[in-house]
Amino acid sequence: MPPARLRLNDGHSIPQLGLGVWQVPAASTAATVAQALGLGYRLIDGAAIYGNEEGLGAGVRDSDVPRDEIFVTTKVWNDDQGYDATLRAVEASLARLGMERVELCLIHWPVPAKDRYLDTWRALIRLREEGRVRSIGVSNFMGQHLERLVQETGVVPVLNQIELNPRLQQAELRALHDRMGIVTQSWTPLGQGRSFDAAPIQAAAVRTGKTPAQVILRWHVQLGLSVIPRSTRAEGQAENLDLFGWELLPEEMAAIATLDEGSRCGPDPLTFG
Ligand code: NAD
Repeated sequence: MPPARLRLNDGHSIPQLGLGVWQVPAASTAATVAQALGLGYRLIDGAAIYGNEEGLGAGVRDSDVPRDEIFVTTKVWNDDQGYDATLRAVEASLARLGMERVELCLIHWPVPAKDRYLDTWRALIRLREEGRVRSIGVSNFMGQHLERLVQETGVVPVLNQIELNPRLQQAELRALHDRMGIVTQSWTPLGQGRSFDAAPIQAAAVRTGKTPAQVILRWHVQLGLSVIPRSTRAEGQAENLDLFGWELLPEEMAAIATLDEGSRCGPDPLTFG
């Protein structure tokens, strides 16, 4: 069963499941992306800082899937924040991708210490008006950053991509997203395997006949989140795609909710950058 799609607040939609390409070697990114598209992925999550945008673009072109069925995300890196720098950075990303336009461009981190995310956002608004990016959003933003962005510019991001996994469930930020009409997208959704052996994950895996990774990814899907696991092997990509057409029980969802301990795998958005 193909991945569902989530509605964005600007009228477009995004596949609920995608492939993340962070740490995929540049030389093999084209093959990894083309393989995923062949298996049924339709969302590819990239970023300028991943250093593999050329491969991502080549993989999209090498696949048999029409370009208009594929959703490509890129992100503006911290050093490129600011109005003019962002305009240049997105043009450079498009050139590396070999694309006229991407479906989504995100501010990668808020970097509060530099305080340039408002001007960065204004540049993304312009790029959207010019048709270089179809939708615009953010990543690693906390409530205060989201609220300031909207207060100052009146433009609500379509999505906030944040670290989210069973050990870091982000309930408060998810509730704010829901109130603001922002899709939550989970990065490091598998949480570096920290919950694979946890009793609620193991129990659901036994009942459903699925793997711990599938149980965790299905948990994201059932919470209504978009999720972008990374796998380079065909078997792993296929495993992570098999999340639709089966369900976790309410009591299994409730048991997984108890695993939250508010601990991050990645950096703190308040100080990073
Ligand atoms: P992930 O949670 O997707 O985990 C990847 C690791 O899990 C890899 O080692 C992979 O081999 C393994 N894995 C994948 N599928 C598995 C399976 N079915 N069973 C067992 N192991 C499996 O972590 P990630 O790559 O850190 O995050 C996913 C994507 O999120 C990234 O590729 C990137 O696109 C995005 N991301 C964004 C940010 C951000 O700041 N916006 C930060 C980190 C990652």
